[in-house]
Amino acid sequence: EYKLSQRVNAIQPSPTLAVSQKSAELKAEGHNVIGLGVGEPDFPTPKFICEAAKVAIDQGHTRYTAVDGIPELKQAVINKFKRDNQLDYGMDQILVSAGGKHSIFNLLSAWINDGDEVIIPAPFWVSYPDMTILLGGVPVIVEAGIEQAYKITPEQLAAAITPKTRMLFLNSPSNPTGMAYTAEELRGLAEVLRQHPQVLVATDDMYEHVLWSDESFHNIAMVAPDLMDRIVVLSGVSKAYAMTGWRIGYAAGPAPIIAAMKKIQSQSTSNPCSIAQHAALAALEGDQSFIGEMVTEFKARHERLVEGLNAIEGIKAIPADGTFYSFPNIEGLMAAKGVSTDVELCELLLQEQKVALVPGTAFGAPGHFRLSFAAAQEVLDDAVRRIAAFAAK
Ligand code: PLP
Repeated sequence: EYKLSQRVNAIQPSPTLAVSQKSAELKAEGHNVIGLGVGEPDFPTPKFICEAAKVAIDQGHTRYTAVDGIPELKQAVINKFKRDNQLDYGMDQILVSAGGKHSIFNLLSAWINDGDEVIIPAPFWVSYPDMTILLGGVPVIVEAGIEQAYKITPEQLAAAITPKTRMLFLNSPSNPTGMAYTAEELRGLAEVLRQHPQVLVATDDMYEHVLWSDESFHNIAMVAPDLMDRIVVLSGVSKAYAMTGWRIGYAAGPAPIIAAMKKIQSQSTSNPCSIAQHAALAALEGDQSFIGEMVTEFKARHERLVEGLNAIEGIKAIPADGTFYSFPNIEGLMAAKGVSTDVELCELLLQEQKVALVPGTAFGAPGHFRLSFAAAQEVLDDAVRRIAAFAAK
């Protein structure tokens, strides 16, 4: 028996990774498993990006870089914010890290003290609460159900804020729901935040480009420029450029906060991979047409999937604005199957029909499951057939 830290004992391993592992085990046993648990595009990284990495190796970019990233990449991030979001940042306001997850970890490390409250709207991305706990904070979950398109209201935000609140997470488009806040909705949240100057907003824009709603992308910084001194934008190249394995994310925000995050990074991981940084530079500065092609494909799969799911008794999916996830309500299906939790339902589905999904409980939203449609159309059609067969039995 090893006596591990209280810190690590307070958290769970990432549940989405756990599902991938379980379905991999069943596959290894020879079962025909459809795994729709993963959170990464099923496209290869565009060739020109891979080529840039090869060139970087050949040119000897294989050493330590500046902790916060090579200046060319930081400049490309600045250009990206100007181009896509009309936001102006200086070089001391950008930190490049080893993936979006790392950026979030650095931010919480730099900002949260023991007992500080962090408001996390649910459904949430699985890592926000556990990272908060790991760093001594207290997650305050604000629930938003299907009837409000899984988005919190200004009234809910106002009610959740206490004198101990130090931070709010926003994630739009959202993993797991695919819903995006409109500019109008963000303005409503900003109005509440104006009355609480102690609250920092972390806007996780990881799925910014994976969006097909009528309204173009907005984050809270774009609609409330007066709050810029307490907004940190978190993003990265993982989802937009199918670069999950390269591990490059970035943060933009007030210089003192970014400097603090950089200090933590300097004492933990140092710079992100030098070669991956050159690849990310090519991604941000190169031809952006890959994104449009990928999003067109995701949108088509999404429409067909939502239609297929809604045709199944007990499942209710509302159309998403973006991402590559569908997050239907399955309470009817649970009742029909005689199970009381979504976790049991997902286990049964895996057992009976060999379809691996992530239960909504992992995202703070019981009564749902998350399907990733980052899979070929035939696979998705097969999955819907199997879920229908499961529901019919
Ligand atoms: N934020 C959200 C909402 C995500 O879904 C993910 C990845 O699943 C991340 C951040 C982290 O991305 P990365 O793979 O760059 O660490």
